Amino acid sequence: MRPRYNIRIAIILLSVFVFFAVLFAAACADAAKVTVKEIRHFSSKNYTRVVITLDKKADFKSHLLRKDPSIKKPRRFYVDIKGARLGKNIQRMIPINDGLLKVARAGQFDNKTVRVVLDIESLKDYKVFPLSGPNRIVIDIFGKGARQAPAAKTEPPVVSGVEKVKTPKPEKPVIKKPNGIRTIVIDPGHGGKDPGAIGKRKLQEKIVTLKIAKMLKKDLAKELQKKYGKKPKIILTRTRDKYLPLDERTAIANSKEADLFVSIHVNASPRRAATGVETYYLRYTQDKDAIRVAARENKTTPAEMNDVLGYILRDLESTGNQQESIRLATNIQQTLSKGLQRKYKGVKSNGVKGALFYVLVNANMPSVLVEVSFISNPKDEKRLKTDKYLREITKGITKGIINYMDGKGAG
Ligand SMILES: [Zn+2]
Repeated sequence: MRPRYNIRIAIILLSVFVFFAVLFAAACADAAKVTVKEIRHFSSKNYTRVVITLDKKADFKSHLLRKDPSIKKPRRFYVDIKGARLGKNIQRMIPINDGLLKVARAGQFDNKTVRVVLDIESLKDYKVFPLSGPNRIVIDIFGKGARQAPAAKTEPPVVSGVEKVKTPKPEKPVIKKPNGIRTIVIDPGHGGKDPGAIGKRKLQEKIVTLKIAKMLKKDLAKELQKKYGKKPKIILTRTRDKYLPLDERTAIANSKEADLFVSIHVNASPRRAATGVETYYLRYTQDKDAIRVAARENKTTPAEMNDVLGYILRDLESTGNQQESIRLATNIQQTLSKGLQRKYKGVKSNGVKGALFYVLVNANMPSVLVEVSFISNPKDEKRLKTDKYLREITKGITKGIINYMDGKGAG
């Protein structure tokens, strides 16, 4: 072979190598980027929640800018999402105009940063935190008329290890008289494309939770009317088989200024024999069983839950509802398990527990999540198919709420 050929072949090979190297680098850079997929909002007079959905976890920073009369711009709040690009079909300009926010705008600030700007009309307080499964950045805006606004204003640092995390300080409980409770939000877990846990005989959690929620609304209204001569407003987060993101369920409770929030679920375990009733409130825990239950309900993994822990724990420290949530959980757990035990054999009370349930994060009122039985347990599943069993569950929860309203377990 002549040397000229060798040089030519070498050049061709080099060109091919460079071409693929560039292609590979571009693909890698693209793969590393986070895509901003959707911006949703849920608004009411005194409260607005904006949710930014991402395709993977991202670092972000938020800033509140003062009103600048010199440039005639309104007060603005923005979130910079690092290593991100805007999704192709995303709506870049979202008019809100609810009295708190005028508009949400999304733009490619530079080639590595997506900036989401909220033009503010009125604001008393705000909170920003991430959730996983899917990855989201949630922005809660509280207006001047908001009945109860959280205390923390600063964005919390990201906490990488659980060891660094402080446990929440005990706060002063705010006990409401029965007449002070005007609105109760009941949340039937799952729905639509999300069936929740499924039993061996194909019973779906979403069907059971909706049935219970509807029965509970009726029963609670009747009993409260009987006892106090007036019934609070009872709102269901969904009244039919439709999908509702967890963050929207909390947003409904906050926007309706609910005094109590009760999320209804049915438990599941790979261990078929697992059975019993348990009631949860929002708390950091290292209990593996509780973490497993929360991860399943959050549609995420314990590791991903750990990623957002720092933000959520700051939230726990800043809101004053934990003591009252524990009291509500305790009352419901007692009456629910006792009621079922009176009529059915082998019903276990697994007690009141704390865990990081996303649906309870930044709920502005005492809030609990009830796991009424185990759909994965064949005996429980059979019972959950009967209205009689569901009615007994309903009665138990109603009684627990009434005992709570009567001040049982306070001070
Ligand atoms: Zn569930």
